[in-house]
Amino acid sequence: MYDSHRYLLDNARFLLSDYADILYVDLRDVDVVWNLRFTRSIARAVSTGESRVIELGRNVYPHVGADQRPEVIAHEVCHHATWVIWGDRIKKPHGPEWKALMNALGFLNPSIRMEFGSHQMKGGLPWPVRRAPRERQSG
Ligand SMILES: [Zn+2]
Repeated sequence: MYDSHRYLLDNARFLLSDYADILYVDLRDVDVVWNLRFTRSIARAVSTGESRVIELGRNVYPHVGADQRPEVIAHEVCHHATWVIWGDRIKKPHGPEWKALMNALGFLNPSIRMEFGSHQMKGGLPWPVRRAPRERQSG
């Protein structure tokens, strides 16, 4: 029994707004949307000249436990926040700036990996899985 897609989206938007307030960063134009193409990615932050969104994998995010959702959303909020605050000076997506913001939101040891491996699904929810940081598209 999973929470409805509508609830998950509303909940994610609430968390986004809450975290943006805490960080004193204006993210009012950032929307949360479903990405139907993700097969393993939980979420990613996307910022183009035209729009800013947090994409949630609709096949994956509903499997994330309620206790883990805040970190997933915080993770993506902090990507957007680092881009707003530091812009192109950001060298690594999960570098010291991103970590500092995660810490400010109370996530002292943030998980980096934002993907469910298919083999990991069998043993139950693998989140959070801690691995060596690896570059990926701000997932
Ligand atoms: Zn990330």
